[in-house]
Amino acid sequence: MMNEELITCPKCKLQDPTHDVSIVQHRQPGISFVGVGWRCVGCGHEWGNELPEKLPGGNDYDLKESLFGKKECPDCKGKKFLEGPHGGLSVNIKCASCGSKFNIYPPFFAERIGKRGDKL
Ligand SMILES: [Zn+2]
Ligand SMILES: [Zn+2]
Repeated sequence: MMNEELITCPKCKLQDPTHDVSIVQHRQPGISFVGVGWRCVGCGHEWGNELPEKLPGGNDYDLKESLFGKKECPDCKGKKFLEGPHGGLSVNIKCASCGSKFNIYPPFFAERIGKRGDKL
C-alpha cells in the first residue's frame, strides 16, 4: 500500500492524492536549483517548487553571482575570504583584502553587512 497523502491545492483548494509532481530547474546567475513541487490536477497551479528566496533581508543577484558564481569579492575582486560566525545555515564572511563583509547562505542568499569599504 502506498502512503497516500492528501495534498491540497493552495489555489483552488482541491484535495487530491494524485496531484502531478512538478520539477523545475531554476537557472539564475550563481544558482542551479532543482525545485520539486506539485501541479494541481484541477486548475494546473504549480507550487512548492519555487526558489527558497524569501529569506529575511535582501536578495542581491549581483552579489550572489560574484560570491557564489565567480567566488570573488564584488568590491576588490579578491578571492580570499575569512569565515566568521555561523548563524544557523548562514555564515558571515569577510574579504581578506578589502574587509567587505557579507552574510551568505549558499547558493540562495547573499547580503552585504555594513557599508561598502567599511573598515573593521
Ligand atoms: Zn488547483
Ligand atoms: Zn574585497
